Amino acid sequence: ATPMSIVTGTGKGAQNGILIKNAEALERFEKIDTLVVDKTGTLTEGKPELVYMLASGGVSENELLTLAASAEVGSEHPLAEAIVAGAQKRNLDLRPVTEFTSTTGEGISARVEGRRLSIGNGKLMRRIAAWSDELAGEAETRRVQGQTVMFVAIDGQASGILAVADPIKPTSQNAIRALHDRRIRVVMLTGDSEGTARAVGEQVSIDEIHADVSPEDKHRIVGELKAEGRVVAMAGDGINDAPALALADVGIAMGTGTDVAIESAGITLIKGDLQGLAQAHSLSSATMRNIR
Ligand code: ADP
Ligand code: MG
Repeated sequence: ATPMSIVTGTGKGAQNGILIKNAEALERFEKIDTLVVDKTGTLTEGKPELVYMLASGGVSENELLTLAASAEVGSEHPLAEAIVAGAQKRNLDLRPVTEFTSTTGEGISARVEGRRLSIGNGKLMRRIAAWSDELAGEAETRRVQGQTVMFVAIDGQASGILAVADPIKPTSQNAIRALHDRRIRVVMLTGDSEGTARAVGEQVSIDEIHADVSPEDKHRIVGELKAEGRVVAMAGDGINDAPALALADVGIAMGTGTDVAIESAGITLIKGDLQGLAQAHSLSSATMRNIR
């Protein structure tokens, strides 16, 4: 029963790119039976690229992208960066923006040259405009391919959709298989749509998927899993993951993610992927056996 075993345990973890903050985190990690993961930036690279757009209602594709990118300049969301980069790639000149507002986990709104732009997920955009079967159908076609779809309304009129692709990290599938071998159930929580979540989840064999969830929902679902008697680790990278990370029995932050997530977590994955997590779990069991 020596602190030395803990030092050795955490030392071996660090060699594998896994930083364990304290003995308590190590001790709890051994007992987990459920790993909750965020999709974007945890299972996927978190570097989305604009791959598709469809304009409608008399707006050209270049105009749609110019207005959307102008409005998104004020947002730090990776999706916003993908839209701005997409416009730059096409050499489109962005326009001045006023009245920018953002709704976490849903989207943004801004005024561009007198026109009211709204960009976001289905939940937000159903409140703002009526979407044709063509736009809704194309959105679903993109989602089943694992792409993330954003709806764009101009002055309250449905004006198009933008889709981004965010590749799955090459290590995600093996990491989850290794966790399954250790009888750990893997649950995905994402603010993205059901279709996109399923397409990604199936590729990496996720056991349970909750899509269209807000940061508050993520926190609530972790609480429900704990109330069912599960011992829960949660891995995430964003500000929207921080409350859930703090509530989990063990919070796991991506080293490549936001500082808020890292501060909320007991474990940090320096390389920013799930690889090595199963190994760290076996290491924590071995370390705890030495201590007892
Ligand atoms: P995740 O849980 O995958 O990290 P978020 O909770 O940050 O996702 O966002 C959920 C959804 O809200 C996104 O898939 C997107 O449709 C929409 N959204 C969020 N921020 C923006 C933004 N700046 N511009 C457009 N859409 C956004
Ligand atoms: Mg995220």
